[in-house]
Amino acid sequence: MTDAFKFHPTPDGGAGRLDGVLSATMQLLTQLLEAVPARVVVLDVNERLVWANNEFFKFTGLHPVQVLEQPIARIIGSMAYSAYESVRGRLASGQTVAWEGWIELSGAGRRYMREHLIPVDCQSGEPQAIIVVSLDVTELKLRDAELSAKVQELEASEALKSSIFDNAMAALVSTDARGIVVEFNPAAVAMFGLPREQAIGRSVAEVMIPERYRSAHNAGMARVSSGGEARVMGQRVEMSALRADGSEFPIEMILWRTAVGTETFYTASLFDLSERQAAQTEIERQREALRQSEKLTAMGSLLAGVAHELNNPLSIVMGRAALLAEKLSGQALAADAQRINEAAERCGRIVRTFLNMARSRPANRTEVSLNDLATAAIDMLGYALRSHGIEIEPDLLPGLPSVNADADQIGQIVLNLLVNAQQALTGRDGVRRITVSTGLTPTSNMDRRRSPRVWLHVRDNGPGIRREVQDRIFEPFFTTKSEGMGTGLGLAVSRSIAREHGGELMLLPQGEGACFCLQLPVSGEREVLDSEPAPLAASTEGSARLLVVDDEPEIVELMSEMLEGVGFEVMTAESGAVALAMLAEARFDAIISDLHMPDLDGARLWREVKRQYPALARRMLFVTGDTLSASARQFLDETRCDSLNKPFAKADLLSRVRQLLEQ
Ligand code: ADP
Repeated sequence: MTDAFKFHPTPDGGAGRLDGVLSATMQLLTQLLEAVPARVVVLDVNERLVWANNEFFKFTGLHPVQVLEQPIARIIGSMAYSAYESVRGRLASGQTVAWEGWIELSGAGRRYMREHLIPVDCQSGEPQAIIVVSLDVTELKLRDAELSAKVQELEASEALKSSIFDNAMAALVSTDARGIVVEFNPAAVAMFGLPREQAIGRSVAEVMIPERYRSAHNAGMARVSSGGEARVMGQRVEMSALRADGSEFPIEMILWRTAVGTETFYTASLFDLSERQAAQTEIERQREALRQSEKLTAMGSLLAGVAHELNNPLSIVMGRAALLAEKLSGQALAADAQRINEAAERCGRIVRTFLNMARSRPANRTEVSLNDLATAAIDMLGYALRSHGIEIEPDLLPGLPSVNADADQIGQIVLNLLVNAQQALTGRDGVRRITVSTGLTPTSNMDRRRSPRVWLHVRDNGPGIRREVQDRIFEPFFTTKSEGMGTGLGLAVSRSIAREHGGELMLLPQGEGACFCLQLPVSGEREVLDSEPAPLAASTEGSARLLVVDDEPEIVELMSEMLEGVGFEVMTAESGAVALAMLAEARFDAIISDLHMPDLDGARLWREVKRQYPALARRMLFVTGDTLSASARQFLDETRCDSLNKPFAKADLLSRVRQLLEQ
């Protein structure tokens, strides 16, 4: 311990016993230590406080007599004293130690000290005194801690916000007050197809607004920045946006303003409406398709009723014309009667095709001729085609093998193809032509295992089908036609029907116009000859007696005349009840009956006949104009009774009656 500190322990620097230079130096030093804005204490070798500056006394509030020569541990308290434990070794070895930390000072409480502990006078190897220069930086430390907590908080909130910004599903675009893009999140990058670095720093109008709207946008921006009304602020606005590749797409935008200090920023949250709008359009289209199909169904049942009603008068026209032709045989007028007959037969085919199309029922496969179905469809659409100036050229292979198929469904395919061809030809100048041809695929040696197929081609000389849409035309609801013209179901339904039949419907590689090909497997070896009327029987029918039952007198009369004309004995009844009464009176070989009659209908008549005359029940033929009614069909299916549809040709009636009598 130096003398100076031993003999000048007073806080005011006291008067020393040394004189001269030393005294002056000591005085200077003491003044300096008093002027330092830190607490300075000097401890002796026993860690007793031997000197302290005013700053120390001010801070502790203690008087020199209370502390001088007192152990420092007692002055600052044992808790604070123990904080220096770790530095004690280094001090002992003469090192100056910089130390800082929190200490619990008795009296002053918890303080943060920044100190230098300087061992002095170490000539003997051990320090004779320790000078402690101590700064209380508690306030600074607290402010620092507060500040760093705030910074941390800010950093956390910044990280949260930028993670929201980066992961938002909506595209977020921020601009400054001049409309220069300052933020462009990843969703915006994906939506606009523009890298972030190419968006930042550019005018938002240039980045995302189609050219024709830019001046309006810039005007709005200028108005808002000069304090004008911001019409779009906070509102959901739908508008067009521009992708980097120049394509436009619909978006919904919400715009808001953020003031940061004196700066103003605008942020837009953007949603791509393309998919929503496409879905909406699709829903509308399907709704329209449904409406169309409901309308068609309603019209179908209405027209089916009308067609049904036509059957009776048509039967009469056909039958009478046939009889007339026979009666006039050899005369010039016979040809006229024959023409009436042919025209009526065509009407009959049209009505039948229509009824078949309109009815909905489970598939009913029979042996059918594709040629007949094609002829029926051409007959049905003949007028519409001609009135559109379309020439129709059938080129049907005679003797085409039959297919095992549902005639209504296959007929529907042919009709769909014809209607499509007709619509495709609407805009064509010059000759409009549809060719319907049929044929048989040759079976090569390689193809022996595959059953031979019949085909039907419908070719038109319209505009054809663009390559880009060729793959899509068989998709349900795909149509290029205007609303009300197309439902996009025709080809889809047709193809699925063809496939259900083990066949295929396809578009053939294009020449002129479009050519669709329907292929179906041949069902057997039997060939269906084109339906030419069977020759009328020349012989009389001996003694067979027939009962004709129908509530329509004209039909009864017509059938009687046809049957009597070939020698049958015919009796007639105008209702089922009358027929039963007549059966009780006389013996009959066969019954030809209507199905729908007011008092006792065909089905009930059959049951009664079966009960009373079982053998005769097997010889009943039902003539029906009702191809639609499910109950009539069920009755015929269950009883396996033969039936003949109105209108019928004389030859058909006679051949069915002869078949009955052969049983
Ligand atoms: P729709 O006729 O109701 O549109 P389809 O399924 O029958 O539905 O046809 C789908 C699309 O195929 C049509 O919209 C049309 O673009 C195209 N198409 C069908 N047939 C022809 C044809 N003969 N010529 C040109 N395009 C056709």
